[in-house]
Amino acid sequence: MATERTLSIIKPDATGRNLTGRINAKFEEAGLRIVAQKRIRMSMADAEAFYAVHKERPFFGELTAFMASGPVVVQVLEGEGAIVKNRDVMGATNPADAAPGTIRAEFAQSVGENSVHGSDAPETAAEEIAFFFSGREIVG
Ligand code: ATP
Ligand code: MG
Repeated sequence: MATERTLSIIKPDATGRNLTGRINAKFEEAGLRIVAQKRIRMSMADAEAFYAVHKERPFFGELTAFMASGPVVVQVLEGEGAIVKNRDVMGATNPADAAPGTIRAEFAQSVGENSVHGSDAPETAAEEIAFFFSGREIVG
């Protein structure tokens, strides 16, 4: 398995409860290295562009309003098989289905306010990293 990079977002429900450090510890304990990180506030236009793939879904308005509702921490995580590894550490989208010990099992509040985002494939990881970061902001 090759070294990969994936885009992670700590969502507003988690930043609002001051969980950034506890979530970052989960990534680091799993062998993922935070090689870029910044705290930003997404605009509605940012959220609509980032989640454009979901624009026909019934929850699109709720999702984009939530992502613009408070600060987020955007990050690049690096490691062996980082894309799948991060999704394992995150747990299932719905916290009711998330395995014990995962971020969503411990911290998520609902299927919408589920504390973290992680890229789902190499192509989307590359696009999502480029959405937030320039090359000089990523230091492995
Ligand atoms: P993410 O893309 O955030 O890593 P995911 O891949 O597990 O999560 P997706 O199916 O891509 O889940 O949905 C993107 C996001 O949309 C979810 O993380 C969640 O915040 C929100 N979402 C998904 N399903 C619902 C729903 N039924 N109701 C409200 N929000 C939802
Ligand atoms: Mg997704």
